[in-house]
Amino acid sequence: MSFVLECPHCGPREVTDFRFGGEVRPGDDGGRPDAAALTRTLYLRANVDGVQREWWQHRSGCGAWFRAERDTGTNRVLRTAAAEVAW
Ligand SMILES: [Zn+2]
Repeated sequence: MSFVLECPHCGPREVTDFRFGGEVRPGDDGGRPDAAALTRTLYLRANVDGVQREWWQHRSGCGAWFRAERDTGTNRVLRTAAAEVAW
């Protein structure tokens, strides 16, 4: 699996620069996910075949968490936004 994600702060990078944080769930809006939110997203997955919203962290760059809208079938990333930005 290789594709490009765009960090809202640093710009486009290979996906290997990032850490996957699971699907965005209702109530996740408004900032960095806490431990309970990460547990829900890691263990209670919907596994959508299509477009879903996900948490990612730019672990090899600025370290920021952000949201991405990605097609899980093609790995095409439709958009990204900083965690504090409302969609
Ligand atoms: Zn970054």
